[in-house]
Amino acid sequence: MLKKNWTWVILGVLCLVIRYFAVRFPEATERIYSREFFPAIRNIIDISISRLPFPTVYLFFLGVLASLGLFIWKVGKREGWKGKLLFSGRCVLNFAGFLVFFFLVLWGFNYQRVPIFQQLGLKPVALEKETLVNELVLTRDLLHQIRPNISDDTLAIGKTLPYDELENVVRANIRENLYMMGLNFTGHPRTKELYPGGLLRKLGILGIYFPFVGESYIDPTLHPLEKPFTIAHEMAHSYGVTNEGEANFIGWVICSHSDNPLLQYSGHLRLLSYQLNDLYRLDPAGYRQFLTTMDKGLRNDLIDISENHRQIKAFSLELSRRSNDLFLKAQGVKAGVKSYAQLPMLAYAWRNKLKGK
Ligand SMILES: [Zn+2]
Repeated sequence: MLKKNWTWVILGVLCLVIRYFAVRFPEATERIYSREFFPAIRNIIDISISRLPFPTVYLFFLGVLASLGLFIWKVGKREGWKGKLLFSGRCVLNFAGFLVFFFLVLWGFNYQRVPIFQQLGLKPVALEKETLVNELVLTRDLLHQIRPNISDDTLAIGKTLPYDELENVVRANIRENLYMMGLNFTGHPRTKELYPGGLLRKLGILGIYFPFVGESYIDPTLHPLEKPFTIAHEMAHSYGVTNEGEANFIGWVICSHSDNPLLQYSGHLRLLSYQLNDLYRLDPAGYRQFLTTMDKGLRNDLIDISENHRQIKAFSLELSRRSNDLFLKAQGVKAGVKSYAQLPMLAYAWRNKLKGK
């Protein structure tokens, strides 16, 4: 099939040329790709392969393995080392072109859209210590208010909804709340649990959107209180939100505006952990003092979550951090992995926007 065949190289290069222009015209990319073309892809995937009851990423890797087998067999049939080398080179280039083409067409051009912050008119700025502490107090008080609706004792919350139900609840809330942010809801994106459990966390991530099959995955071993927010974050990616900071922000908005206490709790809990990290950096003593102001139930939940984090450690956090950083920067996200941690300032900007400031 690949004999003197350069199809994927040509298509890959063509997409890179389109990307060159997409970078320079975010408004047009937003209008044509993100708001017209991508929603069609979303729907096609959601009514077809996503209906399969298992993670379709398995099929993708099966396909890659089969192609590799076919490739090795074909190389074996070639005469002489020169023939083998030329054939191999072309196959590798075609495979690279195939990946570039499908990555960009199925999702990746969204990296060149108008940033969601900009669409919402949010101007995130770094928080001064005093503002950060006020924000922490607000988040903590909300968590204190919400928690009794989920549990009536102070033991760590270790069990919530069955996964299928949880996924549906999060999707229904996204459907209700995306319009508030000027984004339209379409399709029925799936976020499935990816087995073997712990695999994603060993790779240093909690979840991932896999553009080649249009599905997102979370690690089944995540703490039950982290799952609702993480599903919301991954589903934001399913709607064409590429930036990690934006996906975190949308996940938080969806959860905190939900009328489901579990989602509210999960969203504010994630915000709290980012805010606590920031406070720790600015003022370690103030951080320790703040921890003592939290109710027993909330404290137990945080301890339980960090216990869960301790159980599965990434193979190499540095390696996964660096590769993710490199990937994000290659896509034009200047902040790289730091973009994840923008949540406290975005939440602050959003709260002010709602207050009309
Ligand atoms: Zn993400």
